[in-house]
Amino acid sequence: MFLKDLFLPKFCLGCGFLGAYICLKCQKKLSYVRRDNCVYCGKPSLYGLTHYGCKRNRGIEGMICVFYYNNFLKKIIKSIKYRLATEVFRELCLIIEPEKLSKISVLKELKKGDFQLQPIPLHTGRLRIRGFNQAKLVADFFNRFLNLSVIDHLKRSKNTRPQAQIKKDKDRLTNIRGAFSTHAHILVGQNIILVDDVITTGSTVKEAARSLKKAGAKSVFVLALARG
Ligand SMILES: [Zn+2]
Ligand SMILES: [Zn+2]
Repeated sequence: MFLKDLFLPKFCLGCGFLGAYICLKCQKKLSYVRRDNCVYCGKPSLYGLTHYGCKRNRGIEGMICVFYYNNFLKKIIKSIKYRLATEVFRELCLIIEPEKLSKISVLKELKKGDFQLQPIPLHTGRLRIRGFNQAKLVADFFNRFLNLSVIDHLKRSKNTRPQAQIKKDKDRLTNIRGAFSTHAHILVGQNIILVDDVITTGSTVKEAARSLKKAGAKSVFVLALARG
């Protein structure tokens, strides 16, 4: 955060209203995901758990997304990426209805062992340009409710093209293939919750999960702020 930001008035990212980044009226534009889906087939599933028949070798056990990635949230996330990240997040954190996150604690009940939060990492080159990793901010944000440890055992070893710029699912998969590497020995037997800001096709989290499982992770779940 820059010093000059302290003296700038706040404007609503949705409507320009003075005094808040997300005004009371615009809070209603945030749309909570009511029904969770299986990350592989996209069909509804309880708590976002991967259907038995959809399970993959080195795959994801379940996925929970909090909001739909609508136009308003798009504006918020854009601002998170490019400016005032922590300020906007603080407001989003105050707005979110705690019971909407209760399904996350279901994960804690499901697995006997402890979970650790692993944000989807940025390549160091991109991290240097942007100055922060938005997935790490999302992880810290969720962790106010979850109280787990946020780890940094996954590295982005390949600087890939942004997935959002790629249209075909197949090309997204090729783009992200082999993008991650791990600190292997630390991950053996661990339950990991991968955290990202927005999930669209899920190819990034699927590849990250593959890398974590290869390194010995016991289970991998996905938690995202929004679903595209
Ligand atoms: Zn507004
Ligand atoms: Zn399925």
